[in-house]
Amino acid sequence: MKILFLDQSGKPGGAELCLIDIAKPYKDNCLVGLFADGPFRDLLEQNHIPVQVLTNQSIQVRKESSLAQGLGSLGQLIPLIAKVVQKARKFDFIYANTQKALVVGALASFFSRRPLVYHLHDILSPEHFSQTNRRIAVTCANRFASLVIANSQASQAAFVAAGGRLDITEVIYNGFDPKNYQSHESDVSQIKQQLGLDGQFVVGHFSRLAPWKGQHILIEALVQCPVDVTAILVGDALFGEQDYVQHLHQQVTALGLENRVKFLGFRSDIPLLMAACDLVAHTSIAPEPFGRVIVEGMLCGKPVVAAKAGGAIELVEDGVNGFLVAPEKPDQLAQVITTCLQEPQKTATIAHNAQSTASQRFGITAINQQIAVQLNKLLPS
Ligand code: UDP
Repeated sequence: MKILFLDQSGKPGGAELCLIDIAKPYKDNCLVGLFADGPFRDLLEQNHIPVQVLTNQSIQVRKESSLAQGLGSLGQLIPLIAKVVQKARKFDFIYANTQKALVVGALASFFSRRPLVYHLHDILSPEHFSQTNRRIAVTCANRFASLVIANSQASQAAFVAAGGRLDITEVIYNGFDPKNYQSHESDVSQIKQQLGLDGQFVVGHFSRLAPWKGQHILIEALVQCPVDVTAILVGDALFGEQDYVQHLHQQVTALGLENRVKFLGFRSDIPLLMAACDLVAHTSIAPEPFGRVIVEGMLCGKPVVAAKAGGAIELVEDGVNGFLVAPEKPDQLAQVITTCLQEPQKTATIAHNAQSTASQRFGITAINQQIAVQLNKLLPS
């Protein structure tokens, strides 16, 4: 099976990290075409996955763009589409991993006569996308895609609610290799010492810095927690959210939490950093399409507290293998953090349940098998 993967981003967000795991089994028979250069290309190369940056021009459409802006960018896309059409002829499928990749992939699929697969990593709701963007995505998917892989039931439901065809969708969760989430005790002690976390109850937040990821909720919760609770914020503003970064720093200063909040920036050693935490917090204020960090925390054997919305509800069973709190409720979050600190035995049992459930449900081999089964159905018999 030969696959031409398309992704608009040069930066490694969740969709891109997921794509690495999906493309790996096809590395001798695939190409990942990117619409921007950046560290994602390096990651693909490190994983020996063939990659090409297909355009140097940035595509000027944002999540909130209007119809006029969307149409205006179409002219800009023509050389890119022509290039993708030419490449696609050597592959069995076009596999679009992001929304702009869907638009380009849809037209390229039409001209090259190759089936289009769209991996939907987003919740197509007004909270996340303008009406124009939702309409374009749904129209392209309905008209041109043979298969839409939704990363959760929440993403599938939003797609259908936005007018998407249910009959072409399949829910397939992200896959993970559990052995990547094991850390040596000595490395964990070392990193804790390096980061000055010894003797602290460490709550880790692992997400790009963006308002909807809700890092400010964790900071607010911290005020209501015992003083030995420290937070590490791991991640950077990947898509230009500099104002929010500034806001977070100001919030920390205003609340006098300078010694209890550490900004670590973007890191590539997530499993080790999670292992250094006592609790992993997910605090998105808009429904999370999937929430890789939730599963990663579970696989690291850490208790996870997540915002009760979107895909997170499908990953965590409250009180059994993690904790769910209402989004934007720092007092509820503070309560869970304090309980985890005060009831280590009970918390350890929950974390243990999480680790075994996550390994069973999200193992990469089984997930890739589910994708392969769906792709095989699209091949001419
Ligand atoms: N991540 C990372 N380095 C960081 C922060 C996050 O590699 O500094 C990874 C994280 O481990 C997860 C992904 O980025 O695999 C984020 O995926 P998620 O589904 O949680 O959110 P998204 O970015 O897709 O909205």
